[in-house]
Amino acid sequence: MKRLIVVGGGVLGTMHALTALDRGWDVIHIEREAGPRGASVRNFGLLWVSGRAPGAELALALRARQLWQAISRSCPATGFRANGSLTIARSDAELKVIEDVVRRPDATERQFTMLEPEEVRRLNPAAAGEMQGALHCAADATVEPRLVLGALRAHCQKSAGYSWLANREVVGFTASGVLDDRGARHQGDRVILCCGAAHGGLLGEILSDAPLRRVRLQMVETEPFVAALTTSIADGDSLRYYPAYAGSTLDAFPPQEGAAARWAAQLLMVQRLHGGLTIGDTHRSDEPFDVDVEEEPTAHLLDRAEAMVGQPLPAVARRWAGVYSQVIPSPGAPIYWRQEIMPGVEVVTGPGGRGMTLSPAIAEESFK
Ligand SMILES: Cc1cc2nc3c(=O)[nH]c(=O)nc-3n(C[C@H](O)[C@H](O)[C@H](O)COP(=O)(O)OP(=O)(O)OC[C@H]3O[C@@H](n4cnc5c(N)ncnc54)[C@H](O)[C@@H]3O)c2cc1C
Repeated sequence: MKRLIVVGGGVLGTMHALTALDRGWDVIHIEREAGPRGASVRNFGLLWVSGRAPGAELALALRARQLWQAISRSCPATGFRANGSLTIARSDAELKVIEDVVRRPDATERQFTMLEPEEVRRLNPAAAGEMQGALHCAADATVEPRLVLGALRAHCQKSAGYSWLANREVVGFTASGVLDDRGARHQGDRVILCCGAAHGGLLGEILSDAPLRRVRLQMVETEPFVAALTTSIADGDSLRYYPAYAGSTLDAFPPQEGAAARWAAQLLMVQRLHGGLTIGDTHRSDEPFDVDVEEEPTAHLLDRAEAMVGQPLPAVARRWAGVYSQVIPSPGAPIYWRQEIMPGVEVVTGPGGRGMTLSPAIAEESFK
């Protein structure tokens, strides 16, 4: 029996563990914290096909979407639901971008349709704010970030070949295994290092020339909302940040202003299974990162969310920030970072704000 050592208990590491077990490998899965605390438990849980760049990135997202659905059939505790999304236009300029993208050749694959305001309200009565129309993406889906990793690990633990080792930081590796901070050596035939945004430490020297950066985002979650938000919701600013919408219509967009511009903010909103609304996000890559969760972007995003639902939101229950690893966007940049350090030892990281979405397909690529 071949044995895989997976370092990192986030979604990339966990999907690698699951995929390896499916292919008949034994797996030792090592995490430095008592339980994962990284980007995978701090995100929206959006499986976001709509915003992906045309071509290879969209193909990977569509494959990942299929895999998530299949995985969630055997692990329903991931909270997977094919709820789709609405990107709501509140100006002529935003509506023009949506009109443009629904005419593109890949609109069918993305399951895009453009909806009039009354069609939006039929689909999602809670989207009761002022609008000009919306982009509906039926391919988008959601999982519960605070539940997913535990659900996937519980599934892995049904296999006798799976060992989960928490509270162990991997501090060294060779072609035949890794060394943890308690001095234990773990032997394997292959090592996959999914250390997320931990670009220093173990991987500091290895990743020093890699085109990677870390991005910090701010998030909030409300108390349970009175109504059911039947789809996820994005605002028109999100059109600026996703490569799917690039083109001359978007180039004619007026510049982003005020708090939205200062924090590179876009509204994404999804209802959790407990009824609360997860609302975000902002983007900052200038390190060192803020210690505090700042009020200005939070107030902006809450105002925007309120405008989308056309009624006051429940009180904020919690706020947090998260950091992801991203391949620095540039023409021809890979979708994520895969680097063979020595035969049988690879780093897999850098999927940016799409790591939750792409994780099962990235893990599948590791076994091709
Ligand atoms: C606020 C926020 C919102 C986001 N929203 C979405 C979204 O809705 N949809 C989407 O697709 N993506 C989203 N993303 C991106 C997504 O969360 C990440 O791309 C993804 O979670 C990365 O997973 P990972 O396993 O690589 O990293 P992580 O989740 O950070 O996991 C890495 C793990 O490795 C462990 N580790 C590191 N070094 C060692 C070591 N030496 N030894 C042992 N363990 C180690 C860490 O403790 C950590 O648990 C969001 C990210 C953030 C921050």
